[in-house]
Amino acid sequence: MATALKIVPPGNTVSNFVSRTHKLFINGKWVEAASGRTFATYNPATGEVLAQVAEGDRADIDLAVKAARAAFDTGPWRKLSPSERGRMIWKLADLIEENLEELAEIETLDNGKPLKIARAADVPLAADLFRYMAGWATKIEGNTIPISVPYTPGAQYLAYTLREPVGVAGQIIPWNFPLLMAAWKLGPALATGCTVVLKPAEQTPLSVLRLGELIQEAGFPDGVVNIVPGYGETAGAALAAHPKVDKIAFTGSTEVGKLILQAAAGNLKKVSLELGGKSPNVVFADVDLDAAIAGAASAIFFNQGQCCCAGSRLYVEKSIFDKVVDGVAAQAKKINVGSGFESSTDMGPLVSEEQLNRVCGYLESGFSEGATALSGGSRHGDKGYFVKPTVLVNTNESMKVVQEEIFGPVVTAMPFSDPEELITQANDSIYGLAAGIWTRDIKKAHRLAAQMRAGTVWINCYNIFDAALPFGGYKQSGWGREMGKDALEMYTEVKAVCSAL
Ligand code: ADP
Repeated sequence: MATALKIVPPGNTVSNFVSRTHKLFINGKWVEAASGRTFATYNPATGEVLAQVAEGDRADIDLAVKAARAAFDTGPWRKLSPSERGRMIWKLADLIEENLEELAEIETLDNGKPLKIARAADVPLAADLFRYMAGWATKIEGNTIPISVPYTPGAQYLAYTLREPVGVAGQIIPWNFPLLMAAWKLGPALATGCTVVLKPAEQTPLSVLRLGELIQEAGFPDGVVNIVPGYGETAGAALAAHPKVDKIAFTGSTEVGKLILQAAAGNLKKVSLELGGKSPNVVFADVDLDAAIAGAASAIFFNQGQCCCAGSRLYVEKSIFDKVVDGVAAQAKKINVGSGFESSTDMGPLVSEEQLNRVCGYLESGFSEGATALSGGSRHGDKGYFVKPTVLVNTNESMKVVQEEIFGPVVTAMPFSDPEELITQANDSIYGLAAGIWTRDIKKAHRLAAQMRAGTVWINCYNIFDAALPFGGYKQSGWGREMGKDALEMYTEVKAVCSAL
């Protein structure tokens, strides 16, 4: 471990936390796994073991669900006023901000992303999400409903709806934005008054464990939030199948999303899924060229391309195709790939060896089918999990690299001439998470936005997120929405109350 920590700059705040023994957070206490087992989390910049973490499994999930169940059914949580609940969530946001530097460093160590990005995006966005959701705690309302009831002529009723918390929520999150994904999940659950068992990804459990300490400090009652790191096939599967869990929320691959759905069928728990994507990013010839080139590059290369909404299929109007792809490739070549702790680094490593192999496998598949790389096209260095930012041309719709989600810094670029055909091509995907449109023609932009089968459409921008803006997918990109008011619906049940007057 001492070797791994050498890459943290001297005077950093994070070594203390990382070198600790990492436990599970169940019913307000830090405990070993029932099996006594631990698993390693790695530093993706070096491939070295960063820390050992208690490995949660079925038995631990069971204890955590019991704690969440008791906290929901009989604990003090439900008796708190909405205002008190909101203040607690707000306090958590304050604590995140107070510990911004430490949380950002943990994220860089465990996930690999550049520290400047973790500081500017991951951690502040997590705090902002909690603040946004804190405000909702006092505004979750039902309606009064005038009813007529033809078979009871003359009778009068007072009818109204209550919007109540769904109960115990199981939440399974991925490794690309570990802290932020935890915030997206926990925020609406806590605002609505649910209790939670959260399973972070096995690749990146550390920032969520630090968040657990802040949750304690913010004063949430025991059992309201339980955190059980562990593997997907064991801890995750047990959570998705647990009969005492009322709702499961998942962010991850479409493949695992389908398994979650099957597991949830046992007790018909409510399900929300935020899954994969293969998002089209469309550049028209009338565009502000510099802005579009920079936008297309950041749409795919942000977060090492490990974004479910990455603009991974670039469609460029034929007359400017060469200019745009050469421009994006030139930007790709300028991207500094290296350790997230170097201030000059623009792109860190991929999260794991598995991911490195997966992305390199896609590159080989693309080349074997005739694609060529204008930039990158291979691993970067021989230590850590780095991949060079890659622009692939000579691609077509039938190639695996165009059809499947790569989840790495690889964009496929294709020219188009006919805008009608373009729409068909752009929508020709099993996914429907996001789309980008670059044009100066406002009518064209909004018409196309309406035709895109995607949960988010960005016009002359990309990767713009806000706690108030719902995010989620059409088609196999998922069910339901994260963030915004829409997220609250995923965590509430509607009760109709009818009283004779
Ligand atoms: P990736 O393949 O990119 O790692 P996954 O969809 O496998 O993404 O992982 C996202 C999250 O889902 C992680 O927390 C992982 O542990 C969890 N997971 C993986 N497999 C299962 C499963 N069978 N049941 C429940 N959770 C799972």
